[in-house]
Amino acid sequence: MTKKFRVFATADIGEALDLLRKRGYEVELYPQPEAPPKAVIVEKVRSGIDGLISTLRDPIDAEVFEAGKATLKVVAQYAVGFDNINRADANRYKIPFTNTPDVLTEATAEFAFFLMGMVARGMWPAEHITRELRWGFWHPYLPFLGDEVTGKTVAVIGTGRIGLAFIKKCVGFDMNVLCYDPAYQNHAFVKTIQEIHDLRHARGLVKERAWIKYVTFEEALAGADYVSVHVPLLREAESATPTYHLFNEKTLQMMKKSAFLVNTSRGPVVDEVALARALRENWIAGAALDVYEKEPLPADSSLRDPTIADRCRLTPHFASQARITRLSTDPDKGMAGRCVQGLIDVLEANYGGDIAKMTYVVNKEAFK
Ligand code: NAD
Repeated sequence: MTKKFRVFATADIGEALDLLRKRGYEVELYPQPEAPPKAVIVEKVRSGIDGLISTLRDPIDAEVFEAGKATLKVVAQYAVGFDNINRADANRYKIPFTNTPDVLTEATAEFAFFLMGMVARGMWPAEHITRELRWGFWHPYLPFLGDEVTGKTVAVIGTGRIGLAFIKKCVGFDMNVLCYDPAYQNHAFVKTIQEIHDLRHARGLVKERAWIKYVTFEEALAGADYVSVHVPLLREAESATPTYHLFNEKTLQMMKKSAFLVNTSRGPVVDEVALARALRENWIAGAALDVYEKEPLPADSSLRDPTIADRCRLTPHFASQARITRLSTDPDKGMAGRCVQGLIDVLEANYGGDIAKMTYVVNKEAFK
């Protein structure tokens, strides 16, 4: 390699950084586990780095791109979601950014599925009863009953990569599926899932034939026992069908009183004050959240209300937090591997140097 590239990583992504060092890159790492202050990112970019490895904790906007306008060649985001990166600003400065799709799809989908079961069957309060020596007797329905997942109806909001992977998990539990996605409908996938449902029924694995179909948002909410959200965060200016506060007082009231909401997408997709009210006033039965409007979840969040704790599971943005998914250096298995591959593609001018052809570049439109 003729040029020695300089890269700053805002978080330690493990051995994948050594792959860059072995290629002769000079790699600097923000030493703390917390996100660096924005001023540190701006200062590093201004110092002339070629590549920035960012995470969803880092606001990447015009201030950052301005600091790097002469030198910064790529921002490699260690996540599939990129709502922390201002796409319009990146395009204005003609700086490509990459993400890490696919490799976290199954991990995130299974986590959403586990959250759904956890909140429905009351596993958290059940464990507390055991640990806190409140398990006085076995009883047919005391101290509470959980709700089954098997054979129930789930609404999947957003049928992109993770939404479809989530549906695959639901098939094993013979769930009926209501799909909603205003921008991308995969009818071939839906047909395949129906065929699997039909086969399970025809071969006697299940008594009732399960089904799957695309419906409107209203139909999805009204018909579901569980609602699982798999959309990107899109604000007003970013989409004709924005997802910011898609779940609010009005839409939460469209759900069944017995239904559960699971959100592993992005926090601002759910209006948390409205959700806390929905739980307090029993508009819905429960919720499980992995993502929040403000992260980490503030001490005074309405979601921390102890009166709803048994019906409100809260995890710390953990859905893709699995060993291989997070750290594998293989770009086909791990976010770390895919992140550095995206960076290498741009810096080393793979794909004949045509940024618009690079697999992991998100804002291809700026380079066509
Ligand atoms: P994707 O782009 O493949 O799928 C998103 C789907 O949402 C698309 O099909 C899109 O058409 C659809 N959509 C857009 N607006 C919509 C709307 N208003 N209503 C319903 N559907 C809408 O993305 P993906 O790989 O499936 O990831 C989805 C999101 O999950 C990411 O953007 C990220 O924010 C989040 N995520 C969270 C974690 C976590 O750790 N909790 C991990 C991975 C991804």
